[in-house]
Amino acid sequence: MAIDFSLTPELVAIRKRVRAFVDEVIRPAEDRMEQERLRENDKGRYFRELLAMRSKAKSEGLWLPHMPADWGGMGLGHVELAMVQAEAAKTYYGPWVFNCQAPDEGNMHTLLHWATDEQQQTYLRPLCDGTAWSCFAMTEPEVAGSDPTLIRTSAEQDGDEWIINGHKWFISNAHRANFAILIARTEAEPDLPQAANTAFIIDLPAAGWTEVREIETMHGSTGHSEIMIENLRVRDSQRLGGRGQGHLLGQYRLGPARLAHCMRWIAQAETALDMMVDRSLTRFSHGSLLAEKQGIQWLIADSTMELYQSKLMVLHAAYKIDQAQLDGTVEFKSEVSMAKHFVANMLNRVIDRSIQVHGALGYSTDTPLARMFQQARWARFADGADEIHQMRIAQRTIAAYSDHGTTRAATGDLPL
Ligand SMILES: Cc1cc2nc3c(=O)[nH]c(=O)nc-3n(C[C@H](O)[C@H](O)[C@H](O)COP(=O)(O)OP(=O)(O)OC[C@H]3O[C@@H](n4cnc5c(N)ncnc54)[C@H](O)[C@@H]3O)c2cc1C
Repeated sequence: MAIDFSLTPELVAIRKRVRAFVDEVIRPAEDRMEQERLRENDKGRYFRELLAMRSKAKSEGLWLPHMPADWGGMGLGHVELAMVQAEAAKTYYGPWVFNCQAPDEGNMHTLLHWATDEQQQTYLRPLCDGTAWSCFAMTEPEVAGSDPTLIRTSAEQDGDEWIINGHKWFISNAHRANFAILIARTEAEPDLPQAANTAFIIDLPAAGWTEVREIETMHGSTGHSEIMIENLRVRDSQRLGGRGQGHLLGQYRLGPARLAHCMRWIAQAETALDMMVDRSLTRFSHGSLLAEKQGIQWLIADSTMELYQSKLMVLHAAYKIDQAQLDGTVEFKSEVSMAKHFVANMLNRVIDRSIQVHGALGYSTDTPLARMFQQARWARFADGADEIHQMRIAQRTIAAYSDHGTTRAATGDLPL
């Protein structure tokens, strides 16, 4: 039995290069942009600086860590990717600079596996080159996003075209996307409720696709849009995958995409824990440093243990995705679900504890903690709410017991 957490010399070298790029290029630029409030004060220079970092990353081969070499990527497996994502997300712009940010990264996986050759050249190629942006449009205000069988946006066939009508919201990146992967209901009476939806690729802008607003959220108005769709016409060749395969495609997309979120959340939690310890070693109260108080040590210890659990869960789920690519019978849904639920909640707890240890400073915007906390909150319901993951995990555990007389297969199917 081989359990080996050490990295090959090649991977050690990649991690070193990613870490150095983050520390020497991205972090100083990000700090400067933040100090100058560049995004608000000079949008032109803000984009030029971001694009310059992208070009540099691309020329240094730190580009598309999640994609195969044929597509200009680093050709890493999911375990290896975890390491790169966890370095990149130590900074806010890191994933975007390396072109492995949501939702483009999940859309690239989807197009790689579901698109025709022609669709890949038209949509995947520019996404990989960094010359196009995309969005994924599934959630609707009128029905529970947790249950895609309720989707109301409809596509009706009219000869070689489809006519689409509906309403979407919280569509990340829609404001600037060159195309959308849209999920719409095409089947009136499917054999299975999960086989009602179909995916389409929509070139943007498009007649019939109207951005109503960028929704103001807890972390500002940063590109999650509400979209009205009225008599939008697309050719049948814009269909992505088969009729009724929209749900399957969404599930396929969400496996690696959810885990990629976890990899980035680990980076954020580690930053919060580093800050918690740093602050506790310099703040003095009632005769000793905070680091010497048992109450603070418990906060540090709990965060440390939870981060360790998170890392193991993410590595194991990533290992299972890699195995599934070699052997189609390997299942990873449960491991990804458990990791997504656990890491999302861990992230919220660790940032909250770090804010606590920083006191008023933690509540201010003088540190990144406030922004991290606002971002972290959506982790508990986007890409599957906590309760949906718990429901599915419980179903699989009960099924494992019913089938094998033991729950072992549902707890990671580990050799313990
Ligand atoms: C920042 C952000 C970015 C997003 N980006 C995108 C995007 O790019 N594209 C896109 O399509 N969507 C996007 N979403 C939407 C996201 O995927 C949905 O919020 C999510 O699927 C949940 O759907 P909902 O908001 O309709 O909540 P609902 O489905 O209404 O659920 C609300 C709550 O009800 C509870 N609940 C629901 N069902 C059950 C159940 N069966 N059992 C127990 N409890 C239940 C849960 O507590 C859940 O949190 C984004 C959301 C956010 C916040």
